[in-house]
Amino acid sequence: MTQIFNFSAGPAVLPKEVLQQAAHDMLDWHGSGMSVMEMSHRGPEFSSIHRQAMIDLRELLNVPANYKILFQQGGGLGQNAIVPLNLAGRRPDPVIDFVHTGTWSGKSAKEAARFARVNIAASSEPDHFTRVPARDTWRLSDDASYLHICTNETIDGVEYPDAPDVPADLPIVADMSSHILSRQIDISKYGVIFAGAQKNIGPAGLTLVIVREDLLDFASPQCPSAFHWKTCAEHDSLYNTPPTYAIYIAGLVFAWLKQRGGVAAMEAINIEKARLLYAALDADDFYANRVDPAYRSRMNIPFYLRDESLNEQFLAGAKERGLLQLKGHKSVGGMRASIYNAMPIEGVQALVDYLNTFAGR
Ligand code: PMP
Repeated sequence: MTQIFNFSAGPAVLPKEVLQQAAHDMLDWHGSGMSVMEMSHRGPEFSSIHRQAMIDLRELLNVPANYKILFQQGGGLGQNAIVPLNLAGRRPDPVIDFVHTGTWSGKSAKEAARFARVNIAASSEPDHFTRVPARDTWRLSDDASYLHICTNETIDGVEYPDAPDVPADLPIVADMSSHILSRQIDISKYGVIFAGAQKNIGPAGLTLVIVREDLLDFASPQCPSAFHWKTCAEHDSLYNTPPTYAIYIAGLVFAWLKQRGGVAAMEAINIEKARLLYAALDADDFYANRVDPAYRSRMNIPFYLRDESLNEQFLAGAKERGLLQLKGHKSVGGMRASIYNAMPIEGVQALVDYLNTFAGR
């Protein structure tokens, strides 16, 4: 049978070893006689799964002691409302700054405008979202509640190489949904980090939020209790029933990452995977990735065929070789290869071979 490599942007490929472990545990987790899906979220079995996942994630991301890790629900789009409900009230007449670098930061700004005034401090829309606007062009507000950025634009393929420098009293809220755990980050540069799980963490349904402690308690009275960061933190993310099975799978992914040397080791492989793929796309003008090389995403790589009438033929040939879900997002067309942690380098090599063959190289 052809080996399958799944390039979906999310829900995305999970490590084979994780799925095998989950299959093994499906009917009877560790001799408990229960599937993880059937356990009380307050019982000793699930408590041990939950605790270990938290410990491993804190270690993998090197989360400082003055930050809380929250396991919530509602996804990235949920946080687009949950963040302003929790944090806009940090200032009396709130304004929220945004840097608009593509689809996801754009959606976040639109949702935030339902709760507070929004200032687009910079936008790369005039450049068709092919870069992060230069830091010295950002027009930050004097006293914003926070600055929102999306550090990896999943559709546009634009990634921040580092946390931007901003005034010390301006917390950065970062949507890291599509590159968390793919590279080392200095958490202390951010006030809040959030990420839907379904790309680099585990199954859809779990949303990870990391919040600096001094930012936990500015929620507006309208903020639902189940989404109030402070309430969630005080109950160790067990205020309401959490997405238990998704947390269990995420825990297996964290253990898998630790076995492989953690985030630093993954980052080294991710750099090499991205290098191989961009080199094949740049080899001649048969394909094009339009993002400024300084801001090219290592995780989500959109590209176009010079002759777009060949798109269907390209996708059909890819599928025949076991290279799945390469069609680009409907809003931008073309192709997209998402190469998260769980995509082995062999998958990228198989895609590179196909790109070269299809281009007649
Ligand atoms: N932010 C980013 C960067 C994303 O890639 C996505 C999903 N593709 C979202 C937010 C929205 O996530 P969800 O569908 O889980 O709400």
